[in-house]
Amino acid sequence: MELIDGKAISQAIKDELKDKVSELKAKGIEGSLAVIQVGNDPASSVYVKNKKKACEYIGIGSVSYELPEDTTEEKLLGIIKELNADTSVIGILVQLPLPAGLSEDRVLNAIDPSKDVDGFHPVNVGKLVIGEDTFVSCTPAGVIELLKRSGVSIQGKHAVVIGRSNIVGKPMALLMLRENATVTVCHSKTADLKAIAKEADILIVAMGKPKFIDADYIKPGAVVIDVGIHRDSENKLCGDVDFDSVAPLASKITPVPGGVGPMTIAMLMANCVKSLLKR
Ligand code: NAP
Repeated sequence: MELIDGKAISQAIKDELKDKVSELKAKGIEGSLAVIQVGNDPASSVYVKNKKKACEYIGIGSVSYELPEDTTEEKLLGIIKELNADTSVIGILVQLPLPAGLSEDRVLNAIDPSKDVDGFHPVNVGKLVIGEDTFVSCTPAGVIELLKRSGVSIQGKHAVVIGRSNIVGKPMALLMLRENATVTVCHSKTADLKAIAKEADILIVAMGKPKFIDADYIKPGAVVIDVGIHRDSENKLCGDVDFDSVAPLASKITPVPGGVGPMTIAMLMANCVKSLLKR
């Protein structure tokens, strides 16, 4: 069994992006990521802080909007409108979840698709479906990078994706299809999940259920990617995969922490650089 080191791979990506950003800067091409947080959910504050730190590392600017919990949708949409028009802004990110009463759909749909570095806008999702180059949701894009950079060949393999959320499962399945895998998508209504998972050459788990997938779901030699993030009863981070039981069977596996997690911000930075390159 080989561990897929998401920490090292994400660092390599950020270093490549840093070089690219300084090349672009020398040509006078620069810009900033606008990060909007509404309310002060502690987990969101940590994510926002890490995103700003990553911008600083690769050398792009970041402007942050820390708005009070009782911000109206009108006010938020007004800020997004201004940022859409601001040519110094290359990306707009609204940290989710939004407080109750604000429509995530209306807010995300208000972002100019050419600045949608999270890849959540329906226009960008649609482009992914028809195979056009676009901003892709960062976590599934990160999984593709993990596989490629760990020498896993995807073409012709049977990939099973467990989970069909708009942010992870669905774009993940589309990306694996784009890489010429044969893809099966499973969800909570799937009959005989075990039998299907056991057919996977590459098993990608994004179900939000701590340590749910054990050795009974694994074909010996499979590559196992664990997207889940949870705290277990001892307050230690764990994934959707029961690592200790699955690792001995897998050919390669991502740990939690240190697997998929660090890739999400690296791919957000990759989307920002993609936006810069379009200037
Ligand atoms: P989500 O929106 O809750 O979706 C979970 C998906 O799993 C749903 O499609 C659900 O099916 C399916 N599912 C739930 N129970 C199942 C079962 N028993 N059998 C088969 N399928 C089942 O979650 P998400 O946003 O996609 O996130 C998934 C996990 O990844 C979470 O642990 C989350 O914290 C983590 N995550 C990590 C990162 C990162 O950066 N590493 C980023 C995003 C998310 P239905 O559609 O039928 O309900």
